[in-house]
Amino acid sequence: MKEVFEKLGISDVNSGAYCGEWLDTSGEIIEVFSPIDDSLIAKVKSASEEDYEIVTQKAQEAFKIWRMIPAPQRGEIIRQIGLELRKHKDNLGNLVTIEMGKILTEGLGEVQEMIDMADFAVGLSRQLYGLTMMSERPSHRMYEQWHPLGVIGIISAFNFPVAVWSWNAFIAGVCGDTMIWKPSSSTPLTAIAVTKIVHKVIEKNDVPKAIFNLVIGRGSTIGERLINDKAIQLISATGSCNMGKKVHQAAAKRYGGVILELGGNNGIIVMEDANLELALKAVLFGAVGTAGQRCTTTRRVLIHEKICDTFAEKLKKAYSSVPIGNPLNEGILMGPLVDKATVKIYLNALDIIKEQGGEIIYGGKVITENVLGECYVEPTIILVKNDMPIVQEETFAPILYLIKIRDIDEAIKFHNDVPQGLSSAIFTNNLQYSEQFLSHAGSDCGIANVNIGTSGAEIGGAFGGEKETGGGREAGSDAWKAYMRRQTNTINWGKEIPLAQGVKFDV
Ligand code: NAD
Repeated sequence: MKEVFEKLGISDVNSGAYCGEWLDTSGEIIEVFSPIDDSLIAKVKSASEEDYEIVTQKAQEAFKIWRMIPAPQRGEIIRQIGLELRKHKDNLGNLVTIEMGKILTEGLGEVQEMIDMADFAVGLSRQLYGLTMMSERPSHRMYEQWHPLGVIGIISAFNFPVAVWSWNAFIAGVCGDTMIWKPSSSTPLTAIAVTKIVHKVIEKNDVPKAIFNLVIGRGSTIGERLINDKAIQLISATGSCNMGKKVHQAAAKRYGGVILELGGNNGIIVMEDANLELALKAVLFGAVGTAGQRCTTTRRVLIHEKICDTFAEKLKKAYSSVPIGNPLNEGILMGPLVDKATVKIYLNALDIIKEQGGEIIYGGKVITENVLGECYVEPTIILVKNDMPIVQEETFAPILYLIKIRDIDEAIKFHNDVPQGLSSAIFTNNLQYSEQFLSHAGSDCGIANVNIGTSGAEIGGAFGGEKETGGGREAGSDAWKAYMRRQTNTINWGKEIPLAQGVKFDV
């Protein structure tokens, strides 16, 4: 750990604000613990309001210059950041695991995702296309163009402490925005490490210093300051539905833009004809991977009643063979929950589930043997009814609900009958079932898959969900449009000035 910290420039006590330079911050001290063994690994002096003001001012000044640099040259900066990330992949991946607790292959995967996002954004920097329209007026040209927005705020959750920033920052960067990142106060060290990597690139280039800025602090203090700040054109917020509602309301009051990437309650439908081996693997990774702490984690399996018992037995067997322990060790597939508070949430949810009539058929306990700390829990499988109140909520822990369905109509009805709408999947070889699931009357989620699980999305598609998941889209496809403002332009190169719709106004 010492070597990882040294290589990434993490000290015992770190500054919590960056705007081209690190500020001598004066906010409260945040202690950072590793969920691997509950040890204190470093401290961060969080950003005060005064620190925040300095960062915002620098970001606004930098925007005036950055917006006028041609997009492909902005892409070149992102390309260099991608190269720097490649050099630091091992150390940064390790730090993700140490700070957040996901297994090392997932920690490294997260950094790979940043690298992939950088490559994507570089290509995009030459493809910020607008349309040309046919004007109804003679000798008129009409087209649309896209301008940078301004300073944007990026609020990220603990569970993807670095990748989610890159989805936003690299796209916003090529679009010509400057930004202020407020990471989760549970995972500030990875944000500091990323910002130090970015700083190396910024220093080497003739660009404004305050493009990729950072403020660390609690959601209730610095987070609230950010979302209520008129100077911030767009808030891209990733986190719980409750947090998203606050962001939405604060932004609406000041006519600010939002991208909301909030909680999920993701379901996999397994029909009677499904390839059960495929479905089993997808459910296992979806429900147990990242210890159930992905927004796309599989939380509900809607399983045909004819195969429910067989599938449940296979699943229990698979669960019992999942190695749980130190996420840095090779072969471990499930690490700890992020902190002790989340362990309490897990236990509390299990009490409620039992009260509401759920039947725990696997797991349900905190693990105390052969682990280094107090954040390890058993992945849990529970037989429930879809309409139980607890099933409507996202409990951010490895709890999987099995729900019996009779046919495809009931499966889709149950599937959509929760407030969230992020990721969904069906396992079937029946063309009619899969097409019905993908039709206008099918899954109501932002992501709908066939014979692939709910988690592990690729960056090329637009990522996000509907309903209480917030409606935002990030990463691939045309998600970049949210980081720019559209302008419709009409140019008259003729000698008359005709009005549209045939209106006459001659004197
Ligand atoms: P959280 O809502 O507790 O915190 C997320 C971020 O919001 C943190 O940076 C936090 O400090 C900040 N925040 C909290 N209150 C705030 C406020 N009033 N003003 C401004 N900022 C505030 O979420 P978490 O526990 O860190 O992450 C887990 C949640 O995130 C889950 O619900 C998960 O589904 C969701 N998530 C969604 C996606 C997605 O893309 N849809 C991705 C990852 C995580």
